[in-house]
Amino acid sequence: MASRLFALDGAEVAEVDEEPGGGRTVWLVTADPGARVCPGCQMASAHVREQVVTRPADIGYGRDQVSVVWVKRRWECRVASCPRKTFTESLPAIPPRCRVTERLRDHAGRLVAEGGRTVAQAARECGLSWPVAHQAFARAADPLLGQPPAPVAHLGIDEHRRGRPRWRADAETGEYVLLADRWHTCFFDLSGDQGLLGQVEGRTADDAAYWLAQAPAAWRDAIQVVAIDMCSIYAAAVRRALPGAQLVVDLFHVVQLAVKMTGDVRRRAVREKYGRRGRSGDTEYGIKGLLVHNLEHLRPEQFTKVIDTLGADRHGQEIAAAWIGKEKLRDALNLRARITRSTPCERDVRGRLASFYDWCAQNDDIAELLTLARTISRWEDEIVAAVLTGDTNARSEALNRLAKLEARMAYSFRNPANQRRRVRIACTRAARRSRTVTPRRSRQVTGRQPDPG
Ligand SMILES: [Zn+2]
Repeated sequence: MASRLFALDGAEVAEVDEEPGGGRTVWLVTADPGARVCPGCQMASAHVREQVVTRPADIGYGRDQVSVVWVKRRWECRVASCPRKTFTESLPAIPPRCRVTERLRDHAGRLVAEGGRTVAQAARECGLSWPVAHQAFARAADPLLGQPPAPVAHLGIDEHRRGRPRWRADAETGEYVLLADRWHTCFFDLSGDQGLLGQVEGRTADDAAYWLAQAPAAWRDAIQVVAIDMCSIYAAAVRRALPGAQLVVDLFHVVQLAVKMTGDVRRRAVREKYGRRGRSGDTEYGIKGLLVHNLEHLRPEQFTKVIDTLGADRHGQEIAAAWIGKEKLRDALNLRARITRSTPCERDVRGRLASFYDWCAQNDDIAELLTLARTISRWEDEIVAAVLTGDTNARSEALNRLAKLEARMAYSFRNPANQRRRVRIACTRAARRSRTVTPRRSRQVTGRQPDPG
């Protein structure tokens, strides 16, 4: 019964001792007859040379520390042609020369891969060293990550920084020179549940195109939509590697750019007016929070406050023009189906964008507004496509957050390959969980319940 409870295949519990200082010692003997087969000649031996004792590390049981002592035999091989003279017993659960049971290795690997632990935490929990725990994790993770990805209809591309940039002062000129600034380009499944599909070091068009080029042609052809931030590098890579896919830009970043432009104009106007940066007490300073709000979310008194403040002088009117420009751009983006609950029409979207350009042209003395208009017109097709399809890069950003969290929990990574493995395992965990958990069968209720009486 103790052997069944201990459940280490091929071994039998002979005795359990309680240690005076707490904890238990489990004495194991070999029960598997295959253990006496010589690895040199595959013949079973019948001659015991001696008994040896090993103490393999094993998973914990219950509250107390359990230490395992395996009493195994050293056999003599008397086959004349066999190079082995003696051999000790081994089991698939405890392979030869291993001081850690396979199930402890699996447990440590699963703690990192599925349990969200760091390698150091898993090593501490299992009583292993960091390299052994890391090896166990790699053994658990690599088969999962090595599988080719299933077809993806909507692909997301985003970047994240690896560590922080390193600078060094130049000895002669005293200027700072960038030593290292490493990035990862990540590819995400936006339409399915596969999470992070892959990463590549670097963030140039070649880096991104390289990853896309090494995917099978059939997989590339299945991609219909690619969502990116407003990043011309990735756009170039997508146009080169996926000529058939529709490119869309993430609208959050479009609005973010417009909000930033409004802030730039406000800061410049305030500096021109007062000859210094804004501070609390300035009327413009009091509405800076309101300017970044969506117009439709302002209460009537807040709206009046903005209009009154900005209408007061020339500088205020400049800020107001930028603010109206931002809202005109948002007008076009707000035609997407998620907001209007109806299918948007391309002519309407382009019409509203035209009215935004018109406004920018009327206020051509505001350089920031003109720059924004130029950027938007460069990305117009991708913006219109995003409004029409409703596709966003939101899932990429969510998974990127996970990737950063992983780096923080690990107190950053030294080895980029380890980082990629850990990040990919973290960003595909939800997909694996949804596949392994069998859905609860819902009970079908039709008509009245039968009367128990
Ligand atoms: Zn032999």
